[in-house]
Amino acid sequence: MNPIPFMNLTPVHEPLESACVEAFRQTYRKNEYILGEAVKLFEEEFAHRTGAAHGVGFSSGTAALEMALRAVGVGPGDDVLTTPYSFFATAAVIVYVGARPVFVDVDPGTLNMNPRILEKTVTQKTKAILPVHIFGQPADMTALNDFARAHKIPVIEDACQAHDARWRGQPVGALGRIGCFSFYPTKNLGGFGDGGIAVTNDGDLVERLRRLRNCGRRAQYEHLELGYNERLDNLQAALLRVKLPHLTAWTQERCRLAALYRRELADGPARPLAVAEGADPVYHLFTVRAPRRDALRDHLTAAGIQSGIFYPTPLHLQPAFAGFGGKPGDCLEAERACLEVLSLPLYPGLPEKSVLRVAAAVRDFYRP
Ligand SMILES: *Cc1c(COP(=O)(O)O)cnc(C)c1O
Repeated sequence: MNPIPFMNLTPVHEPLESACVEAFRQTYRKNEYILGEAVKLFEEEFAHRTGAAHGVGFSSGTAALEMALRAVGVGPGDDVLTTPYSFFATAAVIVYVGARPVFVDVDPGTLNMNPRILEKTVTQKTKAILPVHIFGQPADMTALNDFARAHKIPVIEDACQAHDARWRGQPVGALGRIGCFSFYPTKNLGGFGDGGIAVTNDGDLVERLRRLRNCGRRAQYEHLELGYNERLDNLQAALLRVKLPHLTAWTQERCRLAALYRRELADGPARPLAVAEGADPVYHLFTVRAPRRDALRDHLTAAGIQSGIFYPTPLHLQPAFAGFGGKPGDCLEAERACLEVLSLPLYPGLPEKSVLRVAAAVRDFYRP
């Protein structure tokens, strides 16, 4: 049996090789290295897809998130509400700016931040909310925005896994004050290295974001504030511009393969995550909650099928955040999910027959 990888970028990159090499050649001949035309055009093109007025390219999704927090003025002494069920960077950026992450447990169906328990966690110190659209499924932005408006605090969307996902028909990223995306190679839109972007409709914030990523510079040798070097490379932008027009087709393919998984796994003990009403997910990952998860994973490995555990540990229990006093039991739903989740192979170019084989192997594991 041929092995089935968890992730494979070759089907996406192979047909674009000559276009990418051409983009490289043009950038090379123009001698454009930093903040050139490709960055400007990519920022406009990407922001446009989200319905936001402005985009600011960053060196990574992490940098975009950190600068977004700085741009809205979060700093030492502040609290930021976020989810315990995400990639490390979501909480790390809160700590980078000197603030404290306050973890709000997730909805057990979608594994997105549960807006119904936000009120219990808010205090005078709460200065922002940082929800994640986990695995490409939008969080309940209606409830989160209502809450944020009532408390006069900004929502920073971590849309790093959710390019082109929609909530009630509107693309994510422009639903809160600032939306941040990652172009890490395995994300739904990925570069050939690191990259990220922040999008916003706020004309004042966009100036601040541009300054923060570029040494605090207002004019040459005039540094208005203590900015950073977190710019998106011109070369990455040129390559991302080649890939961007294909994102719609890749997303459709992810959704088609996810629907096939759902059909094949219907009624099985391994349950795909729920899709909330109003959410159009883009399936960065296809994740099930599986009884005897580790044994299922071994069974798949023996059948030549790779799988992934996202995430094995909730953020409030990560050693890096031990200083904030998180303990087992603080976020029970997230903790339970970490023991049950398994992500199955899913990427544009994965053959349907591979999905059928993976689903059959899952069913086979649970056969009495
Ligand atoms: C990938 C990711 C990030 C960080 O993006 P990088 O580009 O790798 O820095 C942040 N949050 C989430 C949810 C992610 O998946």
